[in-house]
Amino acid sequence: MPDGIIAILFDIDGTLITSGGAGTRAWALAFEEVYGMKVDISSLSDLGMTDSEVGSKGLESVVGRKPTGIELEKMLECHLRYLPQTVEESEGYRVMEGADSLLTALITQGYMLGLVSGNSEKGAHIKLKRANLNRFFSFGGFGSDSADRRELTKVAISRAEIAFGAQISLEQFLCVGDTSRDIDAAHAAGIKCVGVATSKYSKEDLKDAGADYVIGSLSEGLPL
Ligand SMILES: [Mg+2]
Repeated sequence: MPDGIIAILFDIDGTLITSGGAGTRAWALAFEEVYGMKVDISSLSDLGMTDSEVGSKGLESVVGRKPTGIELEKMLECHLRYLPQTVEESEGYRVMEGADSLLTALITQGYMLGLVSGNSEKGAHIKLKRANLNRFFSFGGFGSDSADRRELTKVAISRAEIAFGAQISLEQFLCVGDTSRDIDAAHAAGIKCVGVATSKYSKEDLKDAGADYVIGSLSEGLPL
């Protein structure tokens, strides 16, 4: 293993879990509270977008212009306040097939596991808590680090080195995600990406998006 992969970065939504629309519901409650308006964020956003990007889209639809930083901060805070409740109550919440056993196996084999997610750091932990998956991850890059997925992936890489206590070369990282945005961000950061066809993107879509490897689900294991 020393010559091979050291750290593996996992996307959350559509890769490890699906929240069954808990994020969308939390946004709806937040817009209801702050603006008294019904906003369906799922019709405005796309998979793999960061919380800031999603919040900005929703706000733009409400105020009819680019939101200010303060307006966005307020919505992000409000969304986060509702999220524990909507995740807990979500009937469609589930852990992706093979996730728990794969993470257990990887940890046992000595890999360092991290998160790369457009969710804020708190939001990411709230979403994983219901499935008791937080225990696997020792670092990450999040939507609260940057609104740009490419940048937050780079943050995850630098945090991995801090957690590891030494430099890790880019070839020793692997990213795992379910959308073209994960692949784009991983490549922009200089690391390889495994596409998992467990949500909207098929194996073909992920290949077309440039995935270095493609698997049908986490139960197939990673190409290590
Ligand atoms: Mg995803």
